[in-house]
Amino acid sequence: MNHVTEIFGSMVFDDATMKEKLPRDIYKALKNTIAKGESLDASVANTVANAMKDWALEKGATHFTHWFQPMTGITAEKHDSFISPTGDGRVIMEFSGKELIKGEPDASSFPSGGLRATFEARGYTAWDPTSYAFIKDGTLCIPTVFCSYTGEVLDKKTPLLRSMEAIEKHALRILRLFGDTMSRRVVTTVGPEQEYFLVDRAMYEKRKDLKNCGRTLFGAKPPKGQEMDDHYYGTIKPRVQQFMKELNDELWKLGVPAKTEHNEAAPAQHELAPIFETTNVAADHNQLTMELMKKVALRNGLVCLLHEKPFHGVNGSGKHNNWSLSTDTGKNLLDPGKTPYENQQFLLFLCAVIKAVDEYQDLLRFSAAGAGNDHRLGAHEAPPAIVSMFLGSELEAILAAVETGNAYDPKKKVEMDAGVNVLPHFTKDTTDRNRTSPFAFTGNKFEFRMLGSSFSISETNIVLNTIVAEELRKFADELERAEDFRPALTALIRRTVHEHKRIIFNGNNYTEEWVKEAERRGLSNHSSTVAALPHFLDEKNVRLFKKHGIFSEVEMTSRCEILLENYIKTVNIEALTMLDMVRHDIIPAAVKYTGTLADNILKKRAVCDCIPCDMEESLLKKLSTLSSQLYAKTQELDAAVQGAKNVTGTEPLAAHYRDSVVTAMQAVRVIVDEMEVETDAGIWPYPSYAELLFSV
Ligand code: ADP
Ligand code: MG
Repeated sequence: MNHVTEIFGSMVFDDATMKEKLPRDIYKALKNTIAKGESLDASVANTVANAMKDWALEKGATHFTHWFQPMTGITAEKHDSFISPTGDGRVIMEFSGKELIKGEPDASSFPSGGLRATFEARGYTAWDPTSYAFIKDGTLCIPTVFCSYTGEVLDKKTPLLRSMEAIEKHALRILRLFGDTMSRRVVTTVGPEQEYFLVDRAMYEKRKDLKNCGRTLFGAKPPKGQEMDDHYYGTIKPRVQQFMKELNDELWKLGVPAKTEHNEAAPAQHELAPIFETTNVAADHNQLTMELMKKVALRNGLVCLLHEKPFHGVNGSGKHNNWSLSTDTGKNLLDPGKTPYENQQFLLFLCAVIKAVDEYQDLLRFSAAGAGNDHRLGAHEAPPAIVSMFLGSELEAILAAVETGNAYDPKKKVEMDAGVNVLPHFTKDTTDRNRTSPFAFTGNKFEFRMLGSSFSISETNIVLNTIVAEELRKFADELERAEDFRPALTALIRRTVHEHKRIIFNGNNYTEEWVKEAERRGLSNHSSTVAALPHFLDEKNVRLFKKHGIFSEVEMTSRCEILLENYIKTVNIEALTMLDMVRHDIIPAAVKYTGTLADNILKKRAVCDCIPCDMEESLLKKLSTLSSQLYAKTQELDAAVQGAKNVTGTEPLAAHYRDSVVTAMQAVRVIVDEMEVETDAGIWPYPSYAELLFSV
């Protein structure tokens, strides 16, 4: 066997392993549970747990954990060993069905947004058998959902699973209307492309900002950035290559189908894309990918930065959420086929997405909101904060024909001719790429590009699944009632295109004209996290999530609260780190360097008045002026941070941080970066951007 096929999934209790390790009837019962979502019988659970334990022990595991995704955005685990005393001073290794199915971690230290008082500390975790158990660092990890004692959802997996059920239900109704009686299941699929930076660990250790905040708070523009476009798809450096090789091996062992890797636009920036999977598995795997990126980097003397904007002046990192729907019969419901204009089923699903995105722009924007992403969205390197869709010229022409009732004239596919005879001729894709669109149709899937690199993909997919489920529900209601299906279908598609085409924009999303045009079209533009988050609780959104059983209103309020609090805490840590760096490192460095300059002037003067001191004098003057400006701006920043104490209410407090603290931080940064340019590199307390970006 090849190395890769041998290691792939070797640490996963996957279907093949289950088949091998479980008695036939137990295997069947478990598969039934997985396929139909039925709950697991206790005796089945015991046998599965025992087989899982034996397999894990063979692989060298000693512990097990329920692995879950609380609202922190990262994963949580509490390890228990398999040991059980036998009474004679010895132990045996045990793992029961009960331990497999349910856990009771203390929930009091996880964010709950006021959902749960601290004295009601109990939380429950429950196995999600649709995501395989795996072994990580000697621990058997069981993917689980996490809720409070009273049943409120405290995690990201539960609502994601619920949203998958919602969209499946209504997609199946539509399929039946088209005479599809074969499909039993519809799942949403996701392939998340993950961007990240790698920096040298020794450099990283010298920067308090990177260590505390995951991004640089200061840093003068280096002489060379990304202007030569020589990094994108460039040759991968040996240290990075080694990192990627080890990362791939680790991911493959865990069954994560890591597929594509390349250098990204910014220096030191890279991307990894897996092959797409069922959404909840893709979400679990993306969490594992981010975790392993960090671990493998450290092993190689590197640090992996997942922050959305680690460096000012070069591109930040996002995560492209490629999303589609497919049936258990292997049909991709967003595949237009060869003749999309005749493919009414495709057009109907397409219309559901168009309508969903138009009506729930604010929810998609919400799902990409966070302190880090505020530096990216709308910064001419990432989509703007305005949600719109790109469909490509062919689909747009088809929809225009549908709307007007005109016949569509299928353009002949253009043959690409590279002008070299030895190269094969290939047909041009009917959808060109538009890299500036937040939500682009890319052939047989949609790519949502607003997500930040550090985000869990869960929120976005909860939103996508639910909003499309809602439109499919309305479509199914209307069409099931129709006397004559075909004309009703045509009318529905035409009406939807007419009413929602404002969301479609095929031009350059990075321009000012688009911002104005979008405003004319009445599209929403929530330019910051603080502006975007509260819309989650708009009445229509609460109604939507309640209707589909995804969230209760209380759960939504708590989620919004958690995210706002997270914004506040993040900015507060950044501001305090900035104050620390200025006071303890930057001002002392400025004092030292200006002192050296002044000394030099005095020494020269002592030799002879005729020696020119103009260089020292002008530098000294410039740095002294900057230092006093810095001192003043630092006081202002401090006052803004202190001022937060007088603000009550989470939303006003978040607004205070955005309007007063972030603004004050920007003013401090401008001065410091100017000082860095003029200061002796030997005295400047931190590695420069050039060192950080080009030293790996
Ligand atoms: P790029 O957008 O950089 O050109 P690719 O076109 O190679 O990247 O694909 C991006 C991602 O889309 C990959 O992770 C791929 O697995 C995923 N993808 C492809 N088909 C689907 C699908 N039907 N559903 C969800 N994701 C998909
Ligand atoms: Mg992409």
